[in-house]
Amino acid sequence: MISTCDSCGREGEEVVAVHRLYVTPESWDTPAAVKRVDEVELWCFPCTTHYPHERLDDGTDGSVGTDCREG
Ligand SMILES: [Zn+2]
Repeated sequence: MISTCDSCGREGEEVVAVHRLYVTPESWDTPAAVKRVDEVELWCFPCTTHYPHERLDDGTDGSVGTDCREG
């Protein structure tokens, strides 16, 4: 999908639908936490590599071929 990135504002970028994640680092009095924003944003590829997010499972495009596992 070609659109404007909601994160950096670049136009004409290939974007994906994501939920932004706000990551709070652990500190002396609070544990680390991740807050997910319910609103859906469209992000370009560089933004998805730089900022925490959760991709939507759209299932309309079978071209995703990444095999990324965390262990
Ligand atoms: Zn962007």
